[in-house]
Amino acid sequence: TPRVFSGIQPSGNLHLGNYLGALKRFVEMQNNGIESIYCMVDLHAITVWQDPADLRNATRELAAGFIAAGLDPEKSILFNQSQVAEHTQLAWIFNCVARMGWMQRMTQWKDKAGKNQQNASLGLFAYPSLMAADILVYHATHVPVGEDQKQHLELTRDIAIKFNHDYGVDFFPITEPVIEGAATRVMSLRDGAKKMSKSDTSDASRINMTDDADTIARKIRKAKTDPLALPSEAKGLEERPEARNLVNIYAALSEQGVDAVLRDLGGKQFSEFKPMLADLAVAKLAPISEEMARLMQDVTEIDRILQNGAARARAIAAPILDRTYDIVGMVR
Ligand code: ATP
Ligand code: MG
Repeated sequence: TPRVFSGIQPSGNLHLGNYLGALKRFVEMQNNGIESIYCMVDLHAITVWQDPADLRNATRELAAGFIAAGLDPEKSILFNQSQVAEHTQLAWIFNCVARMGWMQRMTQWKDKAGKNQQNASLGLFAYPSLMAADILVYHATHVPVGEDQKQHLELTRDIAIKFNHDYGVDFFPITEPVIEGAATRVMSLRDGAKKMSKSDTSDASRINMTDDADTIARKIRKAKTDPLALPSEAKGLEERPEARNLVNIYAALSEQGVDAVLRDLGGKQFSEFKPMLADLAVAKLAPISEEMARLMQDVTEIDRILQNGAARARAIAAPILDRTYDIVGMVR
């Protein structure tokens, strides 16, 4: 039976890329009736420095974002990673299965560590091993993510294959990434070559889920574009990364294909298209951000939801970790 797992880091600034590439698709999967486990990956967040009070707040705000976007804590399992110790227990075993060379090839490691790798945390280097454990501790079969996580999911498959091979078992499933839709890689509004990110220091680069209508309109108005009009078919967006990004966002928000959007809007100038995009973004995001703000007024309720989710998650993870320990040869 299929089982879905995915996670988002509570590193602040939840944005439109997270919504279109991840959250919105989680809701679709939940509503298709698939058993789904969604995690606020706080242990991943601290691979780069997080102020403790900010981390606590961002974890609750992210949980509010999940619920406001349409995830039902009764149907899906919603919890934060640090409350289920099995993730880190399995990650240690995977640290002993994965190879240094595999981690060194990861583009997220290279991007986030920057020039001074010696000064990056050991946790940032080992991030993909913990991510493999997040997924495989539930024997999850499908992982909806944005395009940027494709390489980490391939590594998750490599870890499962090597574990199964080393121990002569057929135990961990080979997980399928689910990377679908018009907005699997939403780009920065300031630079068509960089993805939109929580950790980008420029707030103008992204549309935050908590931005008000005026801020959203201003950021879209100032978004980098080129001087040409919109083409009438998708082919005309090649070599135009900024234009393509805005059209992709429009397509994903309006739940149409890019070709359908361009059939309607081809020929328009950005001066006309940008306000249309801003109106659409506000119409889709404002109800979510209002609901997030409402939920944040009662953090004890959010904490209760996360505790319940953690108990349900642990009930699945604990027996799988037990069997893993038996396979590896730990005396119980
Ligand atoms: P950070 O900069 O802290 O890494 P992030 O914006 O990359 O933050 P993550 O928590 O790392 O967010 O990723 C959460 C989910 O959102 C993942 O499934 C990831 O693939 C997806 N995602 C992140 N950025 C984008 C984007 N620009 N477009 C589409 N999906 C994205
Ligand atoms: Mg990221």
